[in-house]
Formats: sequence, structure tokens, C-alpha cells
Amino acid sequence: MLDIGVNLTSPAFEADREQVIERAWQAGLTALILTGSSVKDSFDALTLALSHPHCYCTAGVHPHHASEFNLNTIDQLSELISNKIVKAVGETGLDFNRNFSPQNVQISAFEKQLELASEKQLPVFLHQRDAHSTFYPIIKAYRPYLSNAVVHCFTGSKEELYNYLDLDLHVGITGWICDERRGKNLQAIVREIPLDRMMLETDSPYLLPRNMPTKPKSRRNEPGFLSFVLTKVAECLALPEQLIAAETQQTACRFFQLDD
Ligand SMILES: [Zn+2]
Repeated sequence: MLDIGVNLTSPAFEADREQVIERAWQAGLTALILTGSSVKDSFDALTLALSHPHCYCTAGVHPHHASEFNLNTIDQLSELISNKIVKAVGETGLDFNRNFSPQNVQISAFEKQLELASEKQLPVFLHQRDAHSTFYPIIKAYRPYLSNAVVHCFTGSKEELYNYLDLDLHVGITGWICDERRGKNLQAIVREIPLDRMMLETDSPYLLPRNMPTKPKSRRNEPGFLSFVLTKVAECLALPEQLIAAETQQTACRFFQLDD
């Protein structure tokens, strides 16, 4: 298995980043995709990925950081993605849940990154929270020009899921599905996602899987806990864990063009 969403540059991993990576390999993961969420963060993720085998990264500006987008940002992202270890543009998208950046600023930063991904023919790592009705027409308009795209940490409705699958987008499933309350809807609809469109991720240090029998006191999630997401998905699909691990691995390797 590989974890397609690890915020390894997060300060939450400052003290023991190397051990976290080591535990991921011990847990049987084959690769990590480190998420870039701002220009600085994407450079940090690239530095980390370059110094660790089987680590790759994305480069982009998260909607929370959209206000940081300026005239140099596209050039900086272009510089980043000229490195072969950068496997996608993102994370980018819209987050109207917290609106840390104004909505019109989020939209503009999102569209510029979609243009970049189209131009470079790199996949896009998408984030959408409480913004589907604005997000969907934008991604639909750009879809013909994009090579591939994944809606990471999907938590939406069945209709939203169908909208994304109809656009031939991939879908990332996190420990959100392990939550006995918030995850109920996702548990019911996850079977609608074909395995060649599904990928697994922890989004660590966030979203600690609530089905862990003993949870770390820190409540911090890490890539080594991905198997708990797998267990829950297997339960919802009534399919063997091994099958889902193998299929989603293949999907992720194809999507990010990895050899792992
Ligand atoms: Zn996200």
C-alpha cells in the first residue's frame, strides 16, 4: 500500500519525522506522497522527498493559503514541478468551511493551478470542503485539459461522488470513513467507487482513524496507521483487505506514475 496524502512537513512531526517514516515502512507501506500546501511547504516537502527513497511530493497552494498567491507563485510552482519527484499539482481547490482566504481569492488561485496542471500535463491533488456547487463547474470546465485528478479526503454526498466519477476523477479515502458518526454517509457510499478510481490516504497528522483499538495519546495520525483505513474500506465493501490493498496500490501507482 502507499499513502497518497501525508502532511509530513507539519510541525506535528518536527520531533520524530525520521521515526515516522521508518514506522511507515515497517507497517508495510511502499511509498509516501508528501502533500505540499504552500510554496514554502512544497519546497520543504520536495527537500524531504529528495532525501528519502520511495517518497514523492505534490506542489501547490492549499485554499487556506490562497491569499499568499502572488505574481511569482506560478513560476515557483513551475520550478518545483520541473523536478521528477513532484508527482502532482496541489493540494488546490476550495474550502468554504473555514474561509481562511476569501472565496474569490481561493477561486482565482485554484484556476491558476488548474491551468498549470493542464499545461504541464500533471495530475491534480484536489481539496474540496463545503464548496461543491462552486468547485464542480470549475473542475468540469478544466477536466478536458487535465491529465488526471483526485478529490482527496472525499467526505461528500452520493450526488457529489457521482459528479466526480462522471468526470472520471479519482477519489481519496481517509480515516474519515472510520468515524462512527461523521463517517456514516461515506461508509454507505464508498462501494460506489470503482477500485481503479479509489486511493487510500491518512492525511496525517489529521484524522486519526477512530477504529484503532489503542489510540496514541497525542491523537496524532501517521502514515503507519493507513491499515486502519484499509480495514474499514474492506468492511464496507465486504471484500478481502488484501484485494483492496493491491487494487488501490495499482491505481495509485498508475495515477502518480510511480514504480513502487
Ligand atoms: Zn485537504
